[in-house]
Amino acid sequence: MTVHLVGAGPGDPELLTIRALRLIESADVIVYDRLADAAIVALALPSAELIDVGKAPGKSTPQELISALLVHLGREGREVVRLKGGDPFVFGRGGEEALALAEAGVAFTIVPGVSSSLAAPAAANIPVTQRGVARSVTIVTGTCGDGHDAPEWSALAPLLDAGGTVVVLMGVANRRSYVDLLLAGGASPDIAVAVIERATTPAERIVRTTLAELPDARITNPATIVIGHVVNVGDQLTARLATSLANAH
Ligand code: SAH
Repeated sequence: MTVHLVGAGPGDPELLTIRALRLIESADVIVYDRLADAAIVALALPSAELIDVGKAPGKSTPQELISALLVHLGREGREVVRLKGGDPFVFGRGGEEALALAEAGVAFTIVPGVSSSLAAPAAANIPVTQRGVARSVTIVTGTCGDGHDAPEWSALAPLLDAGGTVVVLMGVANRRSYVDLLLAGGASPDIAVAVIERATTPAERIVRTTLAELPDARITNPATIVIGHVVNVGDQLTARLATSLANAH
């Protein structure tokens, strides 16, 4: 049988793909972690085995054990859904799990999901690209395991100044150091920043700040950080939306 690496979207079950829903509703085993919304895991069959491999940051199961577990479950011949937050191949370590399955000769499929890197800005009415404002969007991690794969922050500064959008995932804990690198690289301290916590869930919260003030902003995980002029477009859209809603009443 098959192991499906399934993107669970940013949180709201309505943002699952139809294929993800179908697989979750019929799987024998669901392997999930803290980014998978409880409402999504609850869609599983009552008979499905639910395996939680990561309850909290720092207390999660090591990646090698998760990969080994998926290989083991796949070999047992059961239909396995490995739920990943957002899209499985956007900073989800889905690539590592797929490699482990491929090397072990276990059949697998990849089911793309709605990534929080795009859904969180959308939830804040921020278009990540906009004609005349931003012609590129760069998705980076604010956290790097071993430092070797750290983004080139100083190279992102000119991109920001040219109007490009930078979306930072896993960017809460380490924000002071990468903001310093961006500022040192010449990024404007006034550039607009939006932080979207728990996008598309009932606990969603949006914090509006600037690059210079981001290190002192009170924000918590999981959050997506959007840096760039498009954040101002989001402000305009939000204000217009509020006015038109008020006029409609
Ligand atoms: N594969 C996932 C990303 C995994 S990395 C995806 O495509 O969305 C985990 C990071 O994703 C978090 O640290 C946070 O930056 C972001 N994230 C995940 N869910 C989120 C949500 N509901 N709201 C805002 N950011 C979220």
